[in-house]
Amino acid sequence: MKKLLLALLAAALLAVPASSQIFIFHEVPPLPEVSFTAADIIRLMSSVNLKQQESPAFCESLHGLTSYHTNTIEICAHDAAFFKQEVLIHELLHLRYGEVGINTGGPYEDQIEEKAWAIYQQLFGVPAAQQQQAQSQETPQQTAPEAK
Ligand SMILES: [Zn+2]
Repeated sequence: MKKLLLALLAAALLAVPASSQIFIFHEVPPLPEVSFTAADIIRLMSSVNLKQQESPAFCESLHGLTSYHTNTIEICAHDAAFFKQEVLIHELLHLRYGEVGINTGGPYEDQIEEKAWAIYQQLFGVPAAQQQQAQSQETPQQTAPEAK
C-alpha cells in the first residue's frame, strides 16, 4: 500500500509542469550563520564604493543595489534615514556572504532581509516590526532580483 501511494505521488509530481514543481518544492536552505561584527562591517566598508543614488528612476524601483562586479553599493538617497541604514546592512550582508563564497541573490533575498532587520534591531534597539510597518506605509514594497 505504501508503495502504491509513493507511485501515485510520483506520478502526480511528474504530471505537474516543471515550473509548478519548482513552486511546490520552493525550499531555500537556510543560510549558515556568518559573523557580522564591527570588524566585518569596517573591513567591507573600507573597500566598497558606497553611492547615494539620487536618480528618481533608481529610487522608484530599488532601495539598494550591490554590484559584485564593480564592488559598489548604491542606496536610494531619498529613503528615510532608518531605512537607508537597514538597506546598507542588507547590502553588506550580501557582500559578507559573498566573502565566504555564498551567492545570496534571488531566492535568498527574503532571508537576507530578515537578517538585516534583526541586525538593525540589535544595533539600534528598535523593534523591527515597528520600523517595517513605518516603511510599508511610506512606500509600496518593491523587489527586484539581485537588488533590495
Ligand atoms: Zn538584496
